[in-house]
Amino acid sequence: MTPLNLTSPVKFLKGVGPKRAEALQRLGIRTAGDLLYHVPHRYLDATTVTPLARAAIGQEVTCVGRVVSTGVLPTRRGLRVFRAVLKDDSGLLECAWPGRPFLERQIKKGQLLLVTGPVRYYHGKQIVPHEFIVLAEPGEGEGTGDPGLVLPVYPATEGLTHRQIRALVQQHLDELLALVVDPHPPAFRATHNLIELRPALEVLHRPKQVEDAERGRRRLAFDELFDQQLVQARARHLAKRARAGITFQMKRELTTRLKEHLPFELTADQRHAVREITDDMTAPLRMHRLLMGDVGTGKTVVALFAMLLAAENDFQAAIMAPTELLAEQHGATLTRLLEPLAIRPELLLGRMSATEKAAVRERIASGAPRIVVGTHALIQESVTFRRLGLAVIDEQHRFGVEQRAALVEKGDAPDVLLLTATPIPRSLALTLYGDLDVTQIRERPPGRGAVKTALRTDAARAKIYEFIRSECAAGRQAYVIYPVIDESERADLKAATTMAEKLAKTFAEFRVGLVHGRLKADERDRAMRDFRDNAVNILVATSVIEVGIDVANATVMLIEHAERFGLAQLHQLRGRVGRGAAASHCILLSDSPEAAPRLQAFCETTDGFKIAELDLHERGMGELAGARQSGGVPLRYANLETDLPLLDAARTAAAAIIAQDPALEKREHLVYRERIVTRYERGFELFRVG
Ligand code: ADP
Ligand code: MG
Repeated sequence: MTPLNLTSPVKFLKGVGPKRAEALQRLGIRTAGDLLYHVPHRYLDATTVTPLARAAIGQEVTCVGRVVSTGVLPTRRGLRVFRAVLKDDSGLLECAWPGRPFLERQIKKGQLLLVTGPVRYYHGKQIVPHEFIVLAEPGEGEGTGDPGLVLPVYPATEGLTHRQIRALVQQHLDELLALVVDPHPPAFRATHNLIELRPALEVLHRPKQVEDAERGRRRLAFDELFDQQLVQARARHLAKRARAGITFQMKRELTTRLKEHLPFELTADQRHAVREITDDMTAPLRMHRLLMGDVGTGKTVVALFAMLLAAENDFQAAIMAPTELLAEQHGATLTRLLEPLAIRPELLLGRMSATEKAAVRERIASGAPRIVVGTHALIQESVTFRRLGLAVIDEQHRFGVEQRAALVEKGDAPDVLLLTATPIPRSLALTLYGDLDVTQIRERPPGRGAVKTALRTDAARAKIYEFIRSECAAGRQAYVIYPVIDESERADLKAATTMAEKLAKTFAEFRVGLVHGRLKADERDRAMRDFRDNAVNILVATSVIEVGIDVANATVMLIEHAERFGLAQLHQLRGRVGRGAAASHCILLSDSPEAAPRLQAFCETTDGFKIAELDLHERGMGELAGARQSGGVPLRYANLETDLPLLDAARTAAAAIIAQDPALEKREHLVYRERIVTRYERGFELFRVG
């Protein structure tokens, strides 16, 4: 028999038959090593088990006992309560789960049960557990559940309980731990204050105290962040090497003239962004920078400085937007700002006639237009630039990787500037965009009407409608947003449609429009255009359609069922108002008491980065937006909310190693390379090219 190693299929382990192997696979466990890295997701602290007879009223206790009887009893108020009586050497105690009669199917006479919760007096002493765990089935020995230990609880799956997983892990733990080799030399571990890998894994599976497990988690978290950052450092290294980019010269011609003719002063954040971009562009390496800032922070004008720097160096610059309307909007903005410089941007849109497009393409190919604005139409094969020096991609997340690459490939190693109005916390940015340089704009241009946000219940509906009426009567406009979780959910769509009809009656003196994702592109465009042109006063929209348009005249954003939105999404919606000088209002309608605290928190801040942090906190790290898309592996041990220092350490360490050994070829780095190549699809590509 071949000796066991960590890459052996898990079925080689004793106690794992074909059926179990299948269940384990559902948990992502294929090898013996996977089982070892399948760490508990929580612990129950049985180090301080209270004998049943000594549980005192008013205390929080953890107790262990055999179930001697169960039953469901109604209370006087009609609530059904599940009860179970536990017995240990000291005596008996009742547990009560109000409102949870279904537990009858899970908790059975004869089971050994661990419960934690407060003790109260209700016709006698009882525990009201907020947690319970079955330690052993009727007839089963206490085996794995020795009270007096911290009990690891493992992520489980159908056909495989956490208890079975725990038994399996504990059965093989010593054998598996013996196979663990720490890839980090002692000095490296000391620098980063990391415990050794073997004890780290051991303490996660077999902690003496709950707090011990944290040191183990920290070690695994560092390792996974470190791997990820090695991949990103490698990507940066390759990108830079492959970037014998354009070295633009600071000519101070067009850029200086733009500054002189701007109708406003740049904010400090905008100036800082322009400086960082200029530094990148005047350096010999290619720029690959992400400009991140809330809607309305003025990213376009920053991008325009970059475009003019390219233009004054006799290069062309292009900006690509995800929709016709946005492209048109950029076209209009740039035309206005460039007018005093006697520069006219060239516009290429999908809806232009074939002859129009052909003419535009010809001009772009000739190199005459220095500033080009367009949609996906720009990346058609038939489009060629004579000398594209800078590619700007607005709302970059709305384009696929290939689409972004397609624009960039229209030039010969042009600089790249990506724009996004979806701010994310720095930790997430480093994780998702570790191979990009990131610039943030937090400050908003002054002199714009602030957006007041308020949370209201349905009781206020009539008042809100009166308010909308008065705004519209004053010539302003309003959005009413309906949540649609999935366009295929006909009921949701109907709600928005019905809403639009109702509002049309309520506001008979005004025009009410409707847009949703099921409309054909041209119908949707028409509806949006009508709103932009103030031919429609109130626009009902579903959340699936992005209201990606700048209507300075819109001053009210009413969001129905606000509790059904994520905070980041609410923030995006709020960004649609407050774009003109008039004061604007964002009103959240919600009758959900559970959602009130988070919605209230939202009302109190307008900082997109803060909201992004709240959002991350809310959704937790299990659901990292786009973690997979970015080619990364979702994080299992690290918590981006709390592990920022660890992430920084991992990033610095990874960068240092890639700087001296870019392909991880040195003997002491082979283990890192090995791990990355097998775990990361992208890692495989990046390290293969060598
Ligand atoms: P973003 O793309 O970041 O959402 P835009 O670039 O469209 O924002 O800018 C929003 C509006 O603010 C535009 O009308 C723009 O002309 C204006 N603007 C930009 N910067 C400033 C500034 N520093 N002061 C005043 N207005 C500004
Ligand atoms: Mg923009």
